[in-house]
Amino acid sequence: MSVRNPPIHLSRVAAAVLAAGALSACWGEVPDAGRLEVVSVPPAERVEIFSLGRGETFGELLYPTLTPNDQAALLLAFQEHASPRRMRQGTEVTIRYLKDHEEVRGIDVAISPDETVRLDRDALLGWRSELINTPVYVDTLFAAGEIETVLWNAVVDNPLLDGLPFEDRNRLIDHLDRVFQWQVDFSRQIRVGDTYRFAFEREVRPDGSMRAGRLLAAEFVNSGTPYHAVYFDPNGDGRGSYFDLEGRSVRRAFLLKPLAYRRISSRYSPGRRHPILNTIRAHRGVDYAADAGTEIMATSDGVVIHRGPKGSFGNTVEIRHPNGFVTRYAHLRAFRTGVNLGTRVKQSDVIGYVGMTGLASGPHLHYEMMRGGSHMDPLSVDLPAGDPVPSDDMQRWRAEMTGRVALLETIPRPGPVRTLLVGTEPDRAPAQPAGGSQE
Ligand SMILES: [Zn+2]
Repeated sequence: MSVRNPPIHLSRVAAAVLAAGALSACWGEVPDAGRLEVVSVPPAERVEIFSLGRGETFGELLYPTLTPNDQAALLLAFQEHASPRRMRQGTEVTIRYLKDHEEVRGIDVAISPDETVRLDRDALLGWRSELINTPVYVDTLFAAGEIETVLWNAVVDNPLLDGLPFEDRNRLIDHLDRVFQWQVDFSRQIRVGDTYRFAFEREVRPDGSMRAGRLLAAEFVNSGTPYHAVYFDPNGDGRGSYFDLEGRSVRRAFLLKPLAYRRISSRYSPGRRHPILNTIRAHRGVDYAADAGTEIMATSDGVVIHRGPKGSFGNTVEIRHPNGFVTRYAHLRAFRTGVNLGTRVKQSDVIGYVGMTGLASGPHLHYEMMRGGSHMDPLSVDLPAGDPVPSDDMQRWRAEMTGRVALLETIPRPGPVRTLLVGTEPDRAPAQPAGGSQE
C-alpha cells in the first residue's frame, strides 16, 4: 500500500451567479424586474492536487480515492490517450469533487507540459476521457547584447531576458549558433565587444515556458563585420530557411559540426601522439567533447551506409552524401531509434548520442569527412552554398526581409563597445563538459 502524498495546495473554483428577471410576455409596458440582492455562492468544486511520487504508480495514487472497479474503469479510459505505466515522477494529478460530496467527479492528469488527460465520471457511461491541449500564446522576444567572454554568458546573463526560463535561454543560444554556424565559429572567433541583436518568435505556455520558437531575424557583429540572418519561407510550409540581406543562403551543404555549440577537443592533424596508444598517429577527424547522451546530427542529407560497432571507433554511423562525400560519427553511446542501414536522413536530423564506446577515455564525438575515399579536414573544407532566394520569390522576400530587419532596428544596439585595458585579460570561458580526445 502506498503512502499518499500530501496535497500541494487546494485551489478554489471561483463561481458567480448571474440572475436576470424573467421576460414578461405582456405588451406595452416593460415590466420592472426589480433589483436583485447580490448573491454569494461558494465554489461548486473542490480540488486536491497531488504529484506522483518516486516509484509510485498512478493506481497507487488513486488507491485511497477510488474503489478497485472504479479505478479499473478509469485506467481504461485513461489509456485511450496515455499509458499509466509511462507516467513520470512529479506528474500532477488533480482530483475534483463536487462540493460537499465525497464522490470523485473528475480527474485531470498533466501528462506533459502541453497535454492534459481529463477524466470525467458520467452517470450512465462511466469514466470518459478527453485530451486537452495546453493553450499557448505567441509573442516576439527582442534582445541585444555584447559579448565579454562567450556567447553563452552574454545570452544567459542578458537582463533583457529576465523571466525567461534557463532552459529556454539555452535554446535561444542553440538557435543563434545553428543559424550563424557557417559565418561565425562561436567557440573560436568571438572577440570581446562583439554584439548581437535578434527578434525571436515563440509559443509560450501559461507557466511562461516556451513550446516552440524560431529566429525571425538576427544580426551578429564579429570583429566589426556585421552578419545577418533573416528567416524566409518560400513555400509557406514552415520549412523556411535563413538568408543574408542580399538573399543569399546562409546555409551550406554540410553543417560545420554535428553537435550544437560544443568545444573542439582535438583537431584534424596528419600526425600526433595518441593519448592511449602513445604512438604517433594521424588524427583524421575532429573530436568534440560533450556530455554523454548529447544529440548528434547528420551534417548533410544522405543515406546511412553503416550503423553498428566498428573496431576502435565503437558504435559508428556512416552516411553517404551526394557528390562522393561520406561522413563518419564514432564512439556513440546509442543510435537514434529508426536510424538503420539504408535510412535516408536530412541535414540536422539526430542520428545518435555521444558516448565513449570503442577506444575512448571520455565521452566525445569523433567526426570524419571523406570524399572519394580520402579524408579531409571538416573544419577547412570549402563547402558548397545552399540555394539563394528563388527569383520568383524576390519581391515577397524583399518585403518580408525589410519588415524583419526593421524589427531588429527597434532594438537599441548594446554598447558603447568596451575597450580592454592594456595588460588585462578577459575572463576565461567557463568550464566546459569534460571529454576525452582520441581516435
Ligand atoms: Zn577523434
